[in-house]
Amino acid sequence: MSFYPPSLVNLIKQLSKLPGIGEKTAERLALHILRGSVKDAQALAESISEAKETVRLCSVCYGLADSDPCHICRDATRDQDVVCVVEQGTDMVALEKSGAFKGRYHVLQGCLSPMNGVGPDNLRIRELVERLKKGKIKEVVVATGTSVEGESTANYLRQVLEGSGVKVTRIASGVPIGGDLKYTDALTLKRALDSRHCL
Ligand SMILES: [Zn+2]
Repeated sequence: MSFYPPSLVNLIKQLSKLPGIGEKTAERLALHILRGSVKDAQALAESISEAKETVRLCSVCYGLADSDPCHICRDATRDQDVVCVVEQGTDMVALEKSGAFKGRYHVLQGCLSPMNGVGPDNLRIRELVERLKKGKIKEVVVATGTSVEGESTANYLRQVLEGSGVKVTRIASGVPIGGDLKYTDALTLKRALDSRHCL
């Protein structure tokens, strides 16, 4: 690696910090960028800076957004009574792509995982409870994944929301066991949502 010019070594170093990118892959990506046009390299660099500067968390749903509240939270045509609770912004994107859900979202920013030191306080659960206190929401659809962590998060939410006067439902088991929402196809997601049941 030290045979490369310092700036190239630095690019490889930066790329290898990305998840799932080892040094070999980083080297291949860096050389690919160098082989491409200056325009493409600039577009890549600028898109990283721009995304970093403009994308933030929506203060209502905690999804990724470039405005606050995000376009979904601002959309008056969407059902305001139903909130779908998901683990990550990527799950929200998967549900949006499926077109199966027309309500609002609440992104927990993860799921309960004592093994990894993730407890209720690390998730946006308190914010969800606060949101429900405003009284507009009639149903919470828990759409966490079907992994052990996803299920225990769903159970925890059921306990927390018990007695809140809000109907709590869980998406049906159409989502494969251990499955991540974002890897589930649109039709399965739609079926899972349509046949949700009370928690
Ligand atoms: Zn939002």
